[in-house]
Parts: sequence; C-alpha cells; structure tokens
Amino acid sequence: MNLPKKADVVIIGGGLTGIAIAYYLAQKKCTDVVVLERNKLLGIESTGRNAGGIRAQFGTKVNIEFSFETIKIFENFEKLVGEPLEFNQCGYLFMTENQTLWENFKKNVKLQNDCGVDSKLVTPEEIKKRYPLIKTEDLLGGTFWQRDGIIDPSSVLLGYEKQARKAGVKIITEAEVKNIETSGKKITKIITNLGEIQTDTVVIAAGAWSKNIGKMVGIDFPAIPIKRQIVSTLPLGIPEDFPMVVNMDTGSYLHRESGGILMGWADPNQKESLSIETDFDYTMEIIERSVPRLPILEQAEILTEWAGLYCTTPDHHEILGKVKEFEGLVCAFGFSGHGIMHASAVGICIAEEIVDGKASFIDLEPLRFERFANGKLIEEKNVI
Ligand SMILES: Cc1cc2nc3c(=O)[nH]c(=O)nc-3n(C[C@H](O)[C@H](O)[C@H](O)COP(=O)(O)OP(=O)(O)OC[C@H]3O[C@@H](n4cnc5c(N)ncnc54)[C@H](O)[C@@H]3O)c2cc1C
Repeated sequence: MNLPKKADVVIIGGGLTGIAIAYYLAQKKCTDVVVLERNKLLGIESTGRNAGGIRAQFGTKVNIEFSFETIKIFENFEKLVGEPLEFNQCGYLFMTENQTLWENFKKNVKLQNDCGVDSKLVTPEEIKKRYPLIKTEDLLGGTFWQRDGIIDPSSVLLGYEKQARKAGVKIITEAEVKNIETSGKKITKIITNLGEIQTDTVVIAAGAWSKNIGKMVGIDFPAIPIKRQIVSTLPLGIPEDFPMVVNMDTGSYLHRESGGILMGWADPNQKESLSIETDFDYTMEIIERSVPRLPILEQAEILTEWAGLYCTTPDHHEILGKVKEFEGLVCAFGFSGHGIMHASAVGICIAEEIVDGKASFIDLEPLRFERFANGKLIEEKNVI
C-alpha cells in the first residue's frame, strides 16, 4: 500500500495497542487514520511474545479499571467487535507466605471489591482442595478471581485489525518512522523510509521503542525497555481449569499451556536493553522459582523458551494521553506487563481523547507524562 500524503491521525506501532486505538478511532467515525509498522507483520514484538495473562487483581484503582473494562470487552468480543475470541477464564491465583504481602493482599481485595471486581481471599486448604498440584503447606493464603484468565493476544489484534481495515483505516507495514517534524507546539509531518505524511496528530504506540520516538521531538520519556523471558514445557497432564498462578514471594508466574506449563519471572537485575536474546541463567532462574510451588515440574521437559521486552516506567503504570509540549502528540506506551490486559480500554480512552477531547469513563490524569515532573507517581505493589 502506498503512503498517503496526509492523514488526520498517524499511529506509530502495529502492536495490539496501536491497532486497538485505530479500531476505536474508526468506531468514532475517525477513519482518516494511518498505522505505521516497521516490521513485515503486525504484532510480532511484545504483542507476540507475552504470557497472555488477563487480570483485574491489581492494587491501584486505575489498573483495576483498565483491566476490568478490557475483560468485559473480551467476554463479549464477538458481539462487540464481530470477530470470534477464545478467553479462557481460568482465574488468577496470587499467593504468598509473607505476612507483609498477605496484609497487602487484604487491602487489594478490598479495593478490587470496591471497584466491582468480586475477587476473594483464599486459604491454603481451599487452594489445595481445588488445585491439588500446587504445594500449599507454607502459604499464608492467596487471592482469586474467576473472571481473570488467559487470552491469545494475536486473535485480539486480528479482530481489531480486520474491522479497522474494513472501516477504512490504512495499516502499512515495512514503514519505519525515522523522524517527526514540528513547528512551534504543532506536529506537522512524519518522515518514514517510504516517504512523508502530513498530519497534526500522532499517537506513539511503539512499545519498547517509544523512548526513541520521543527523542525525535526532543522529549525524554521515562519508558525503559527491559528483557523478560518465558519457558514452556511439553504436556504434563495439567487440567484445563488450572489458573494463572502468581507467586508474589518470588515474582514468578505460571499457567497451563497446551497441557504443559508456561512460566516466567521478572528478573529485577535486568538492565535497560532492546536485546531479546535468551539467556540460559535467566531460564534456570525461572525454573528454580517455579518448581517448589508446582512439584510436577520436576518431571517436565522444556519445549521452548523466548524473550520479549517490557516497556517499563518508574511507577509501573503506562503513560497515556496528550502531552503539554505538543498539541497533537498522544502517548500510549509504558505498559510493563499489562499491555494486553489494558489494550481495549486504552484504545477507547485514547480514541475519545483525540476525537472528543476527553476520555469518558476512566480518568487519564493520573497516567499523564506530567506526573513524573510533578512527583505524582502511583504506587502499585501487585506487579511482577
Ligand atoms: C515476557 C513477557 C510477558 C508478558 N506478559 C503479559 C501478560 O501476561 N499480560 C499482559 O497484559 N501483558 C504482558 N506483557 C506485556 C505486553 O506484551 C505488552 O505490554 C504489550 O504487548 C504492548 O503492546 P504494544 O502494542 O504497546 O507494543 P508492541 O507489541 O511491542 O508493538 C509496538 C510496535 O511498534 C513498532 N515500532 C517501533 N518503532 C517503530 C518505528 N520507528 N516505526 C514503525 N513502527 C515501530 C514495533 O515494531 C512494534 O510492532 C508481557 C510482556 C513480555 C515481554
């Protein structure tokens, strides 16, 4: 497809975030939209390299709201978006043996319940009864919500992509953004390897590369790329209703994948990097943290392992919405490990901010870039 000479909105990045925003713009009759993706295929960076976990069990209101809204959309995806989607609502089970974390769990459940998410505290005995494969003896307890679960992010992306294209959105691959031209406080032009597009509205949805896009307009976004690894095993007879298990004591997580187990861990010692080369020691650390909670893993054979990038921020919350430096510059990045579970709500809010000037159902103020300069960071302890 040829690059158009101008567009009302240009979205940089053809991962789930960029495509969801394009879809919701089109829903609001804003269809003169171009998505630019530098790869040949859409969704092959973080969107294609994650664990597919979807949960509303967070410790901040804004994180709960973004996930809860997205969960409601995933539950009704075929009706709302017109494309089929399998959402395995096997639940998320957070667990701990640590008294401080346990006290935090109680606060989180109270906040989640206040937001309409009817998660609950569970005892080690209840966990053992429902999931006998999990070692529970040393646990103080956990939290559980049945409507959390696992999704295939590429199916979500495909659904949004198909409908966005139908509505007239232009999605152009092998189109790498090289520069952004500005005049005063206005965006004027996007420069790519395929040519230029005149526009006054640009959405940065470039995931772990968003900091590089910021540099094109002289803004230093605190959006740091960090490697995260995943390991999966051959089948082990894990039952279909097995939940996503998050061990908050070790920061590791695991869920059923094709009858085996997919496991990951957020290594706090990883440094800023765009490398996605897998590292044997990282793989071993993941396995060592997972086996004690799920002893059946002692019999497992590794099927595969891979790495992807988190785009992290100092408070583990995304950077969303317009910035004061340029009138038409809109942020949608910095999702750490939550970009899939927030994607639909983010898509709606960003489309509303662009078309109506304000998101209608979630307050974007706490998530704006300005919070870093104002020292208004949001503390979230329930992250991995
Ligand atoms: C190991 C791992 C596990 C995770 N687990 C979960 C999970 O369980 N649940 C969850 O919700 N999230 C999870 N995440 C996070 C989630 O994957 C991301 O938050 C999400 O994919 C972000 O989507 P995105 O579209 O913003 O970014 P991406 O999918 O990375 O898309 C950004 C796109 O921008 C393109 N781009 C960059 N620069 C340019 C340029 N100059 N020109 C044109 N295009 C450009 C890239 O090629 C890329 O396709 C995990 C991440 C990892 C790495």
